[in-house]
Amino acid sequence: MKVIHYEDIVEKVAEMCIEANYDLGEDVMNAFQAALKTEQSETGKEVLSQLIENADIATKQRVPMCQDTGTVVCIVELGQDCHITGGSLYDAINDGIRKGYGDGYLRNSIVKDPLERKNTDDNTPGIIHIEMVEGDQLSIHMTAKGGGAENMSDLKMLKPSDGIQGIKDYILDVVRVAGPNACPPLVVGVGIGGNFERCAYLAKKSLFRPIGERHKDLEVADLEVELMEEINRLGIGPQGMGGTTTALDIKIEVEACHIAALPVAVNLNCHASRHKEATL
Ligand code: SF4
Repeated sequence: MKVIHYEDIVEKVAEMCIEANYDLGEDVMNAFQAALKTEQSETGKEVLSQLIENADIATKQRVPMCQDTGTVVCIVELGQDCHITGGSLYDAINDGIRKGYGDGYLRNSIVKDPLERKNTDDNTPGIIHIEMVEGDQLSIHMTAKGGGAENMSDLKMLKPSDGIQGIKDYILDVVRVAGPNACPPLVVGVGIGGNFERCAYLAKKSLFRPIGERHKDLEVADLEVELMEEINRLGIGPQGMGGTTTALDIKIEVEACHIAALPVAVNLNCHASRHKEATL
């Protein structure tokens, strides 16, 4: 049985919050560079260059890459032979968010009550999902999820008879309607199957897969490639200024579902696709 101390989780989460906001991941930077070579629009190229410069400035000057520093979402894989001492895992993660957003001078973007709209002033609570796994490790996957892209995300309970064409049409419609409002170029996360809440979770979870990494199932991987091409034919382009880089990638996760159902969720991520991973 491995023992992990509360304070170690707090420190690690705080560090991840700061790094996620200051240092855009290598996968996203590589995708920007690749898109710069293929983008057909001059304006699109200019916007991509500005996004690369923006990310460079954030890293070098230790400032956030965007004013919207996001909602912290954590997917935690908790080994069943791992024991946490000193307090609850939820409290440790929220203390880490509180410390990271304070120490990193990151904007606090969470309101306590969706109707009263009073800021909690420390960016807590985060959204925390815990999955029990084998082993004695604690792995934390975190993202600082931008509000604009989250707002343009969508979920639909399709009918089984809608089939694969219905799924493709729906995903393209969500991206088309989002237009510039989700701050493209996007990473498009898709969940197919499960039930109402599970397909939304799958769509979110898919966004943690690095850009460029295709699904292990070849049929799903082919669907990702096909949809990626179709999305980039929509013409929305970087920051909605027109062009051939509407998405940097699309990720799809698929799970079993009820015979009467075909749930599909599309979770959009903006160009500030911030995710960090740590294992304790
Ligand atoms: S959606 Fe993303 S890029 Fe747009 S304002 Fe929010 S964090 Fe920034």
